[in-house]
Amino acid sequence: MSSNVRVRFAPSPTGKLHIGGARTAIYNWAFARANGGTFILRIDDTDPTRSTEENTQVILRAMRWLGLDWDEGPEVGGDFGPYAQTERLALYREAAERLLAEGRAYPCFCTPEQLAADRAEAQARKDPFQGYQRRCRDIDPDEARRRMDAGEPYTLRIKVPDDRGDVVVDDAVHGKVVFDAKELDDFVIFRSDGTPTYNFATVVDDACMGITHVIRGDDHLSNTPRQVMVYEALGAPVPTFAHISMILGADGKKLSKRHGATSVEEYRDAGYLSDAFVNYLALLGWSLDGETTVIPREVLAREFSLERISKNPATFDPKKLDWMNAEYINAMDDDAFVDGIALPQLAAAGVPVARADHDDAWWSLLASIVRPRTKMPADAAAVAAPVFATADTLAYDEKSVAKGLAKEGMGAVLDAARSALEAVPEGAWEAGAIDAALEALPEALDMKKRLVFQAVRVAECGTMVSPPLGETMQLIGRADCLARIDCARALAL
Ligand code: GLU
Repeated sequence: MSSNVRVRFAPSPTGKLHIGGARTAIYNWAFARANGGTFILRIDDTDPTRSTEENTQVILRAMRWLGLDWDEGPEVGGDFGPYAQTERLALYREAAERLLAEGRAYPCFCTPEQLAADRAEAQARKDPFQGYQRRCRDIDPDEARRRMDAGEPYTLRIKVPDDRGDVVVDDAVHGKVVFDAKELDDFVIFRSDGTPTYNFATVVDDACMGITHVIRGDDHLSNTPRQVMVYEALGAPVPTFAHISMILGADGKKLSKRHGATSVEEYRDAGYLSDAFVNYLALLGWSLDGETTVIPREVLAREFSLERISKNPATFDPKKLDWMNAEYINAMDDDAFVDGIALPQLAAAGVPVARADHDDAWWSLLASIVRPRTKMPADAAAVAAPVFATADTLAYDEKSVAKGLAKEGMGAVLDAARSALEAVPEGAWEAGAIDAALEALPEALDMKKRLVFQAVRVAECGTMVSPPLGETMQLIGRADCLARIDCARALAL
C-alpha cells in the first residue's frame, strides 16, 4: 500500500535525542508506515549557535538504534532535499522574495528601540493588540526598495490580511483550536542578518516537501497560527496538525533531567532493548485498544492512528519501562537471548566464554534458567556468574555463608550431599538425576529440606539466591560441583 501521506521528524541538533523527541519520531514513523506513506527526517539546524554536527550524528545514531528507518533524509537522500535547513537557505530566500514581490511580505526598518517604544505605548494604552504596530506596513514599495538598496537594515514581515479573522486549526489530537485574530501580528519571517525565522523556514520546508501531516509536540501549538499564515501567503495547502501532549515526570512536572535519564543514548547504554523502549514510548500518549501493553513494532507500524492519541499529558514511569524491558527479554528465544544478551553481557563482565565452548543444548538450558531472572541485560551476567566460576574462583557471599553454611550440622549435610552426588555417574549428570539425588537427603539426615538445599546451594553457587539448583549444577558439570563441595566443606561446621 502506498499513499500520499508524507510526514517528517525535524529535530534541531542542539542536543541529544530526548524521550519526548523520540516519541514524536516514533509517532511520525508509525503513522507513515501504517498509511503506506513516507517518513522524512529533516535536520532543523538553523540555529547556528546551538546546532552541531556532532549532535546531528548522535541523533542519527539514536534513530538507527530505535529502528526508525527514514525514507528521505540525511544519508539516504530523496527527491525533496537537501534535508538540512542550513543547506536550504536559497529556498527560503526565494520564497521570501516571492512574497515580497507579491506584496504578501514587506520590509520593516524599525530599530529595536522603536519596536520597544511601540510595545510600551501599546501596553500603556491597554491596546488589545499588543503585537507589531505595523509601522512599516504601508511604506510605498518604491520607497521601501530604495531604502533596502541603500543598505538600511531591515527585517521581512509577513502581511497578515486585514480581513483574515480568527485562525481555526482542526487539530487531529486537540480538535478545533481557535486563535484570536488579535494575536496575529505581522511577524518577522527573515531577520536583518539574512536568516529565516523558525516559523518561516519550517513552513517553506513542509510545503516544499509536500508534508501532509505535522505530528509534533504541543509546545508548538502556539506557533501554528503563524505557520498557517505562511502557508496561506505561499498559496500552499495547510497540512493536518497533530500536537501531542507533553510527557511528565512522576511529580507531574514536565519531564526533565531532574527526573533521571532523558536521552535515548542513556537508555541504550543502560541496556534497554530498542524494541521494548519503542513500545514503551509509543504508549506514552497512544493506545492500541486501551489495554494491550506489549505491542511489537510490526503491530505499531500497522495499527498506529492519530485518533488514538490522547489529549492528556502522559507520565513517564521508569518502573513500567523496566517491566516492559523484562517482558521483551523474557519473550526472546534461546538463541536470541544467548547471542543478544548472555554472551555480550558475560563478555562485558569479563567472563571468558565463547559460544563454541558449549553445545546448543547447554546454552538453551542456560537461557531457560537465566532469562526469567533477567530484568535488565546486565542481570544475566550476575545470575549466570556461578555457572562460569570454578571451584577455585567461586566467590562466597559472606551473609549467605553465615546463614546457610557456617552452622552446626551443615558439615554433615555437605558430606551426605557429596556421597549422593558422587553416586550420579558423569553420563547421567543432568538436572533430574541431580535433584533426585538431593531429594533423598532431608529424610536421611532428618533435617528440614530448606536447610539442606540452602547449604548445597551456597556451596555450589556461593549465594542463597540462584537459579534452580539441579539445572545450575548440570551446567556447572559433575567434577566442579564435587570440587565446590570440597571447598565449601571448610566453611561448614
Ligand atoms: N525543529 C523543531 C523542534 O525541534 C521542529 C518543530 C516542528 O516539528 O515543526 O522543535
